[in-house]
Amino acid sequence: MTRSWAEPWKIKMVEPITVTTRDERERAIVDAGYNTFLLKSDDVYIDLLTDSGTTAMSDRQWSAMMLGDESYAGARSFYKLVAAVHDVYGYEELIPTHQGRGAEHLLSQILIEQGDVVPGNMYFTTTRYHQERAGGRFVDVIIDEAHDPTSMHPFKGNIDIDKLAAAVDEVGAERVAYVSFETNVNLAGGQPASMANIKAVYAFCRERGILVMLDATRALENAYFIQQREGGYEDRSVASILREITENSDGATVSSKKDNLVNIGGFLALRDPELARKARALLVAFEGLHTYGGMSGRDMEALATGIREMVATDDHARSRVGQVEYLGNKLIKYGIPVVKPIGGHGVFLDAAAMLPHIPQDQFPAQALAAAIYVDSGVRGMERGIVSAGRDPETGENRRPKLELVRLTIPRRVYTQSHMDVVAESVIEVYEQRDAITGLRFTYEPESLRFFQATFEPLPTT
Ligand SMILES: *Cc1c(COP(=O)(O)O)cnc(C)c1O
Repeated sequence: MTRSWAEPWKIKMVEPITVTTRDERERAIVDAGYNTFLLKSDDVYIDLLTDSGTTAMSDRQWSAMMLGDESYAGARSFYKLVAAVHDVYGYEELIPTHQGRGAEHLLSQILIEQGDVVPGNMYFTTTRYHQERAGGRFVDVIIDEAHDPTSMHPFKGNIDIDKLAAAVDEVGAERVAYVSFETNVNLAGGQPASMANIKAVYAFCRERGILVMLDATRALENAYFIQQREGGYEDRSVASILREITENSDGATVSSKKDNLVNIGGFLALRDPELARKARALLVAFEGLHTYGGMSGRDMEALATGIREMVATDDHARSRVGQVEYLGNKLIKYGIPVVKPIGGHGVFLDAAAMLPHIPQDQFPAQALAAAIYVDSGVRGMERGIVSAGRDPETGENRRPKLELVRLTIPRRVYTQSHMDVVAESVIEVYEQRDAITGLRFTYEPESLRFFQATFEPLPTT
């Protein structure tokens, strides 16, 4: 008999959520321009828009907040954060920021010069935005399997060393700003890289004098998958695997709103004190003084506690990923096309396969997310052609191979019964998929358009 696991916590406080009627939801989605980002949370029943900053903090984190030192400079809470990042991630230099993109901005500005190439394993929206804004050219060097939602490759986040070598050879190592290595690749569906690949990339780069900068936002979930899937790691703690990941890098940007179990915060961590000095010079202009970045003292207390809590035992990582797998396996059982294997932070519905009657330039994933919301009040988000945006040079829509709806699970927030409700709604919508029509823009922002774009349904023919 396989034995059940359960969450390593019990509930001490609850937050009531609203149940709306179908009529109310039909009105709400029109008002929101068919963009789930523009819905009011009061109109949402189960909110799977994102796992970013939506975590339930622990009683220890809440009590740590009372210890926040709000001194402008040299706050005690900052030094606690430095110690936590050092103990768990192993980096010496810490540059605190208001969230992940603040760290990406600083890193891009200090390392990228006009015309530099930045190879990376699939893009992330804000990461690539800052790389391009700094004058860099992002080159995708992820393995081909990452673009195939049916491939069962256990490490779809891996970098293809041949693609990386080709990208480096094309311009020469000195024009490569750094390799941007994302752990548990968000846009591939929360897919990990293997330790063997992380080490191979670092060795390749060291030989050529190229820096490796991790996007370690989801490195904990990546470490958990290595423990589960990679030979030789089954008896290792998630904490020690996480350390081995970061040892194979020169620094990292982290959005603490994910793995780190807080609602706001982030950091840039580095090894080289000279680079850290450059980052701190920009930090004071864009984020705040170097001992708080964009965070208050109490934010840094909650973050320092969250960083230690996420690796205190392996049970947290297991129940976090376990809940995602529970939802994913339920959908797979009913034949819903989803990205496989199930990733670390959400279930990604393959909208292209679910709605083959809607061409990609009529935004099938955007339409599917809206339809699921109308059915049940469950809010997911588009990760497809709308999120990919336009090529800055040609102005054409980028056409990602993956056209997905992401159902992202917040950490420690929902129960298995909520997951059952979500699965039933997706199944219902899938059974009535022929009624869903494509969309067209009524407003298209210039950058990061998915956040604020509005749409209307195309007339049915
Ligand atoms: C969320 C996220 C970011 C951006 O961080 P923010 O805190 O939202 O600014 C960067 N990379 C990855 C992989 C993320 O998931």
